[in-house]
Amino acid sequence: MVDYREIVLPSRCPFCGGKAEVHDLGNMGYFVKCPKCEVNQDKLYKQRCDAVRAWNKRENESNSIGMIQVSEEEYDKMSRAMLITMYLKDLLRMIEEMEDG
Ligand SMILES: [Zn+2]
Repeated sequence: MVDYREIVLPSRCPFCGGKAEVHDLGNMGYFVKCPKCEVNQDKLYKQRCDAVRAWNKRENESNSIGMIQVSEEEYDKMSRAMLITMYLKDLLRMIEEMEDG
């Protein structure tokens, strides 16, 4: 059985617990973003449900990290590191696309 909420509603932000929102870029697609800490998905999804599903999946994956006790400062650093990783992934993808073309 498919849980409807799982597909339609994004879970809370895995980084800050903020209420994540789905952004609709029309023809370009959809992505989920946390308005509080500005973490967003590093790609666009054609289907809204795919964006939400991917976002929710990431939250589940990060639950194991959530078990570790960290200070506010450490948590802040970790969030920034995550963002940098996302930007690096974007850069890598751009480089790959340039090499392909
Ligand atoms: Zn957040």
